[in-house]
Amino acid sequence: MNNLAPYAVSSVNTQGRRMIEKTPLGRSEFQRDRDRIIHSTAFRRLEYKTQVFVNHEGDLFRTRLTHSLEVAQIGRSVARSLHLNEDLVEAITLAHDLGHTPFGHAGQDALNRAMKDFGGFEHNLQSLRVVDALEERYAAFDGLNLCFETREGILKHVTKKNARKLGDVGERFLTNHRPSLEAQLANLADEIAYNNHDVDDGLRSGLITIMQLEEVPIFSRHMAEVIKQYPGLLQRRVIHETVRKMINTLATDLTQQSMRNIKNSGITSLDDVRSSLPLIGFSEKIRREQQVLKKFLHLNLYNHYQVARMSNKAQHTVERLFNEFNTDIRLLPEKYQQKFQKEKHQVIADYIAGMTDRYAIKEYRRLFAIE
Ligand code: MG
Repeated sequence: MNNLAPYAVSSVNTQGRRMIEKTPLGRSEFQRDRDRIIHSTAFRRLEYKTQVFVNHEGDLFRTRLTHSLEVAQIGRSVARSLHLNEDLVEAITLAHDLGHTPFGHAGQDALNRAMKDFGGFEHNLQSLRVVDALEERYAAFDGLNLCFETREGILKHVTKKNARKLGDVGERFLTNHRPSLEAQLANLADEIAYNNHDVDDGLRSGLITIMQLEEVPIFSRHMAEVIKQYPGLLQRRVIHETVRKMINTLATDLTQQSMRNIKNSGITSLDDVRSSLPLIGFSEKIRREQQVLKKFLHLNLYNHYQVARMSNKAQHTVERLFNEFNTDIRLLPEKYQQKFQKEKHQVIADYIAGMTDRYAIKEYRRLFAIE
């Protein structure tokens, strides 16, 4: 790749794959990682997993798949401006949500509670588990055998207890080191994407209104610009223009502030990145404005009673599925029963976390409805 900064991840300073493979022809190591992610089963399942709105509620709401694509788009643009490894950012962002349960955060909270006595459930760790172990596509290994830097980027957070069991990718959580700038960027691209598309989806659903959003400075400021420039524009377009401008402001701010942080830090290598403070970040003003937007979304969208009702149903579904399998593992498909001998309750978590929203609903009916 041309024009990479000396502190970017490259084929020169990569720590490579767990199982050594020949260098790919005609594409970089990280392009190969991205390709493996796109061809995985878990990636296709993202299409039918909830972001905020359950998949069948409407055709135009974001799903985990479209969310991941938006994160990748934002991440790649910023990576290119910062001369970071765009292919690595693309691979991390496309894989970052592979371990998510059905029904978004509600599903994940329920599964974590159900797994309380068996080690708990963390979606970041599950994403890593998908690419390290659960995908069954290759003859020579389980998982996708991705490069270290892609794996460390996927593992955004993990408890210290779990970090100890992970070896190389867990180490930085114990030694207080930073991941690559590409991983730091993927994380913030995620934030830009969901804050903005949740505004768009929230307005589309009617659960939040433009009037309410006028209290949110980053929204009202950009909307005022749009209306001034295009008086009389239809509301739907005003929303899209406003969201587009917000994404642009955030991505530009992230690029400029990160550039300043990198310059001021004096880093010259990937090793410097790892022992430095986090360097990819927003300016103080924008960071605060984003906080206000996040708070607004929590209060008015994620905690809206209609979302809460759906979340409540989702939690009961996941909880009942888990309890039923846990009471009698003969109810699990045979493949999982065999794995249960060795891996115990993690297998139930793997099975449930792998379900799409509609698969979980179907499975619930198969277990509980007498038709
Ligand atoms: Mg995400």
